Order: sequence, then C-alpha cells, then structure tokens
Amino acid sequence: MEHIRCLIIGSGPAGYTAAIYAGRANLAPVLYEGIQPGGQLTQTTEVENFPGYPEGVQGYDMMEDIRQQAERFGCDMRSAIAVKTDLSQAPYHVWFDDDTEVTADTIIIATGATAKYLGLQDEKDYNGRGVSACATCDGFFYRKKTVAVVGGGDTACEEAHYLAGLAEKVYLIVRKPFLRASKIMQERVLEHPKITVLFEHNTEGLFGEEHLQGAHLVEKKGTPEERHYDIAIDGFFLAIGHKPNSDIFRPWVKTDETGYILTEGMTPRTGVPGVFAAGDVADPLYRQAIVAAGSGAKAAIEAERYLSTL
Ligand code: NDP
Repeated sequence: MEHIRCLIIGSGPAGYTAAIYAGRANLAPVLYEGIQPGGQLTQTTEVENFPGYPEGVQGYDMMEDIRQQAERFGCDMRSAIAVKTDLSQAPYHVWFDDDTEVTADTIIIATGATAKYLGLQDEKDYNGRGVSACATCDGFFYRKKTVAVVGGGDTACEEAHYLAGLAEKVYLIVRKPFLRASKIMQERVLEHPKITVLFEHNTEGLFGEEHLQGAHLVEKKGTPEERHYDIAIDGFFLAIGHKPNSDIFRPWVKTDETGYILTEGMTPRTGVPGVFAAGDVADPLYRQAIVAAGSGAKAAIEAERYLSTL
C-alpha cells in the first residue's frame, strides 16, 4: 500500500494553495482532486475579487493557473474521489473510488462545500445565464437590474442586502411567513426600500429566451388562497444553505450541527494530530476563494511543522 507524507484531499483554492506551500516545503504532496476538479469556482463565470487579476479572470482559468503553480512545485495531482477514511490512529487510512487505499502522515482536508439548490431542472438550464448561488461572486453583473434571492436565513438576508446596493430591485422569496435570520439582518431587509419580501412564496420554475427573464411563483401553496403568478427578474440567487463535504471525516473530526469541521482557534487543526481542515469545509461564515486560499497556506505550514516533529 502506498504511503504518502502529505495528502491533500480537494482541489479548490484551499487544496491547490496548500499544495503550493507543501511542495515548496519539500513535503512531496499528493492531491486528490475529487468530484469537481478546481472546485466551485469552475462553475462561476468571471472572478473580479481575487487579488492579482486586475482585469478579472474566468473562474475556470484562475483555478487552472493555481493548479499549474502547484504542479510547478512537484505536487502529484490525481483524479480519484475519497470515499472512506480511518483517522483513528496515525498513519491514517484513506480509500478512493478507484479501489486504491493509501496511508498518510498528514492530511489536509479541503473538500469544500456545495451550495444547496431547490432541485428544479430550470436551475440547471439557466446556470451561468442568470442563476447563481453566490451574490458576492456574481452580483456585480446585475447592476441596475432586477434580481430575486431565495431563502430566509442570514445568508439570504445578507445577499439580498448586498445585491440591493447594486441592483434596481430585489425580491426575497421566503417559503415561511417569517424570516429565520437574526433580528438585525431582518430589520435591514424589511426596511430597505429596494427589497420586497415575498413571504409564503415558492418558486415553481424559471423562464427566459437566452438569459433568465423571470420566475413562476406560487403563493400560499396548498391553501384556499393559493395564487400562481410570474415576476420579471434578470438574476436568481439561491441562498438556502450550503452542505459542507465532510461526511467521510465526521466519525473522526468534530463538526458543527451542519457538518462544518470545527478547527482550533485561528488554526486549521482539527484535534486529530496531523489532520488539518482548510477552505469552505471549515468555514460557514466567509466562503470566499481568497479566504480559502489563505487557510490552505496555513494548513500546509501546520503540516510541515507537524511532520518535523515525527
Ligand atoms: P439557514 O439554514 O440558516 O437558512 C436557510 C434558509 O433557506 C431558511 O430560511 C430556509 O427556510 C430556507 N430554505 C431551505 N431549503 C429551502 C427550500 N427548499 N426552499 C425554500 N427555502 C428553503 O442557512 P444560512 O446559509 O442562511 O445560514 C447558515 C448559518 O450561517 C446560520 O447559522 C447563519 O446564522 C450563519 N450565518 C451568519 C452570518 C452572519 O452572522 N453574518 C451570515 C450568513 C450565515 P426555513 O426557515 O423554512 O427552513
């Protein structure tokens, strides 16, 4: 069975940045890219808020740049998906979907999080053409336009508020008759002149020719007052939560109730010696590429320090 000194699982900004640092520290990192090589950013269009690209960059191209930078320092990139782990004692065991099994001295978990979608076929059809799960990433393209945000939690309110600073009008589509968000976020949204909150509404579908042009809504579904109608929108933002990709580590590392890996203080340490978590899988709050990249660097520095004690 192959033994790896520094195993990195996941290939978003956190995983690739960890690989750059681990490669430069001579840790001979091996990185498994997982289900979506390059991570969530390969699904967005233009990235304008990552330092170093003054003209902006396509998400896919940026991830390819970071990947090549990691390869330059000798990272061994592989394409299998981790399906099971045993972190009960070092060296740790990891199994992959190509029937391989490895042991590792250190593991950097950088498996990211996946935005939840409603499950409508139209969401897939208009992905990148009006549908997004990240207002901070894509909101800029909707300046002076009309958009809708789905969800009633802090993320939805925060994104609606952010978009209201750019767009002409924002609908907040909430399935319950109340918001789940914190009081202060509720007030910001309810008092904002550009935001209209549609309580007890669900989205049944989306429509548009080339680009998204509107949504089919239903109000008070299943009641005598049920009403179906359409709204005209240019952008449709999902903010109904994220699912951190931590399932295969959960028996061993501590997570919060949603599944985000809990790390110790300002460090990426998980509590399992030599196992570190970086990027969105351990970040319910920021979920930004630059933050993930920074935490990947921290994880590799920690891995180097840990290995030097063995
Ligand atoms: P939450 O789980 O808190 O909220 C999800 C929202 O989406 C709820 O309103 C929920 O409705 C709604 N929803 C879920 N599924 C569907 C569906 N299928 N159709 C329609 N609506 C749906 O997730 P958040 O991402 O908002 O927040 C996650 C955590 O992060 C929370 O603890 C939050 O407080 C925290 N957070 C904190 C921030 C801050 O402090 N600045 C910023 C952002 C997040 P329902 O209420 O009916 O279940």
